[in-house]
Amino acid sequence: MDYLEIERKLGANNYKPLDVVLNRGQGIWVWDVDGNRYMDCLSAYSAVNQGHCHPEIVKALTEQAGKLSLTSRAFRNDQLSQFYTSLCELTHSHKVLPMNSGAEAVETAIKIVRKWGYQTKGIGENKAEIIVCDNNFHGRTITIISFSSDPGAREGFGPFTPGFKRIPFGDAAALKAAITENTIAFMVEPIQGEAGVIIPPDTYLKDVRQICDDHDIVLILDEIQTGLGRTGKLLAEEHAGIEADMTLIGKALSGGLYPVSAVLSNTEIMDVLHPGEHGSTFGGNPLACAVALAALDVLIKEKMIENSAAMGAYFLSGLKTLKNPLIKEARGRGLMIGLEFMPEKINARQYCEQLKDNGILCKETHENIIRFAPPLVVTKKDIDYALDIIHKVIG
Ligand SMILES: *Cc1c(COP(=O)(O)O)cnc(C)c1O
Repeated sequence: MDYLEIERKLGANNYKPLDVVLNRGQGIWVWDVDGNRYMDCLSAYSAVNQGHCHPEIVKALTEQAGKLSLTSRAFRNDQLSQFYTSLCELTHSHKVLPMNSGAEAVETAIKIVRKWGYQTKGIGENKAEIIVCDNNFHGRTITIISFSSDPGAREGFGPFTPGFKRIPFGDAAALKAAITENTIAFMVEPIQGEAGVIIPPDTYLKDVRQICDDHDIVLILDEIQTGLGRTGKLLAEEHAGIEADMTLIGKALSGGLYPVSAVLSNTEIMDVLHPGEHGSTFGGNPLACAVALAALDVLIKEKMIENSAAMGAYFLSGLKTLKNPLIKEARGRGLMIGLEFMPEKINARQYCEQLKDNGILCKETHENIIRFAPPLVVTKKDIDYALDIIHKVIG
């Protein structure tokens, strides 16, 4: 079958994938339709942290699918309470609101925090303001792209949703300066993923936490990519020793088997919602909950978070020995790693194509950065294998 031609002819043109057609996956490995094996160094943008087709998650999915898949929230289901209990125990959050995609979790948080602002801070009608960062990535809906700084994400899609203000990332003083009487929240990624694995200064999140406390504004951390072990901690906020008021998770919450996201919140904020004010037909369905429970269980039980910290450090130190004068920096936390080349000098896409031809799948972000983010089950031997090829192609 001519996959490429059919996709070109019949599919929307909103992606530019590498030309590799996959049909099987196991752990860190995927295979194409011709039987060639590749090491997955993207993990579906960190949705497959637990590795492809983890047998325990597959088992939970198939068993629950044959039992009960969807009740809608018109009725209750037995999996939901277990999902709540597990997430609250693991993250110390008070309350959970289950959704499906990451963008839906972001939208949900925006709705909740706006209502909280009007009810408890007495903000004037339609005046609530949320501060976000330059080069953020929070998803693709109209409201979310309304506060994007990426022209490609916005152009031609207006009119946009008002009520957002953008400041530089990693600059706590800029947050302080941007706060007005109408500010209700600051939403930020602990490490900016799509921007190119941008790690803020060490004190940033601690300072941000303090500023939010001082001004009674809600700190929303978008951990949809950084969360669930990717950076070597369950949540990236732990590196800074802080707790957000609201945390958004998605992607690896299902180990990549099903779209599951959640808003984690303290009680005061979540309790502004009343019946009929928000919902989702599929959000919190028993199949999603059973899959997420298994995905969380194996993440903890198989020590994938600890492995992410150890293997991430090992991978990064190997990348730092690459001898290529066009490399600007190799940086990362846990298995969230970025390799940045001098801008204008190099087309990272070319390296991704060459790595693919040599059995490593990864994806450029912007023109000059390659992200390395293998599943968290990767071993030292696997990383040596990858580093060998990366040195051959890039070093
Ligand atoms: C992927 C991502 C989203 C959006 O998630 P979708 O499931 O694609 O809607 C939001 N925020 C961050 C940080 C992400 O990486």
